[in-house]
Amino acid sequence: MAYQLDTVCIHGQGQRENIETTGAISFPIYQTAAYAHPGVGQSTGYDYNRVQNPTRKELERIVTDLEHGLDTIAFSSGMAAISAFMELFQPGDHVVATDDLYGGAIRQFRLVNEKNGMQFTYVDTSDLAAVEAAIQDNTKLIYVETPTNPMMQITDIRAISEIAKKHHCLLAVDNTFLTPYFQNPLDLGADIVIHSATKYLEGHNDTLGGFLVTKSEELSERIREMIKTTGAVLAPFDAWLILRGIKTLSVRMEKHQENALAIAKWLKNQPKVKDVYYAGLEDHPGHKVAAKQCSGFGGMLTFHVDSQETAHHVLETIKLIQFAESLGGTESLMTYPFTQTHADVPDEKRRANGIDETTLRMSVGIENVDDLIKDLEQALA
Ligand SMILES: *Cc1c(COP(=O)(O)O)cnc(C)c1O
Repeated sequence: MAYQLDTVCIHGQGQRENIETTGAISFPIYQTAAYAHPGVGQSTGYDYNRVQNPTRKELERIVTDLEHGLDTIAFSSGMAAISAFMELFQPGDHVVATDDLYGGAIRQFRLVNEKNGMQFTYVDTSDLAAVEAAIQDNTKLIYVETPTNPMMQITDIRAISEIAKKHHCLLAVDNTFLTPYFQNPLDLGADIVIHSATKYLEGHNDTLGGFLVTKSEELSERIREMIKTTGAVLAPFDAWLILRGIKTLSVRMEKHQENALAIAKWLKNQPKVKDVYYAGLEDHPGHKVAAKQCSGFGGMLTFHVDSQETAHHVLETIKLIQFAESLGGTESLMTYPFTQTHADVPDEKRRANGIDETTLRMSVGIENVDDLIKDLEQALA
């Protein structure tokens, strides 16, 4: 019998590993670096914490079931996951990537992968013809974020997966913004799902983590070999925090979404707000594709105000909403992509993507929506 999504958040599809006898409801934190061997040439299945840990394994089981994958590998941060994944490629390999990516991913590609001989072409992946045109003989990977950060553009994952198959390259999708609660890229044809668990999965703005979820044995083995080699594993306590966070993913995501939609609609009617980007709004260019491939639109929105002065004023006068990086937690945060998340993106490219001095990004938390709107109202007055 398959369980429904909100049950899977708490129990996964199957049984947890039966390695402890107290009946503890909360999965224990195995805070150990190494494990004793029962005899020469024998192992309990656990040898050393870089390779195995029961708490981390339990978390990986839940995430695999949520993403409909075969295996999940947990990392110490989202960037650790992305950087280990990129190590699977060779000098000379070419990647087609979404042009409005998370700033840290762009920095990783530029400072590390390009230095090591990889090549990147950035395109608007919501434009299928542009993706097809960017493919070269040496293209090995299409790397997509949908919705994008911060401009909330939507890429048709199924259509891109067909392009990837046709050209024998992998498709990786960063699913941080929607989580498996609203979107399952593996079901839509992706080969690998990337997560910053720091955001909605953990959900409380209190630790970092990352995942790679695969649906092939071969990819999973290569990634496990890579994390064993490079070592950025998720610590047992952090694994437990994320495990606990995911238990409430379903109720949090529903509330994030409800609040975000109400705020997006409210912002649209404010005289100092110029444009609102939220795929849940029917006039958003990606609304139809999002409605087809996702079961919800999430809690992130971006808007433009009428001037740099207004943007600075809002950031300095919001009270309940805090001016901070990051996203996906219970607390509402507002980010200034121009000087924060996208500070390292070349200016011309940043502006071409619609990020300038008037762009504000909001991670809508799960506070009372009237209190959030009142805070925005006084900051925009
Ligand atoms: C935050 C984020 C990352 C990086 O994750 P960290 O946990 O901060 O290392 C990657 N992708 C997206 C979409 C993110 O929002």
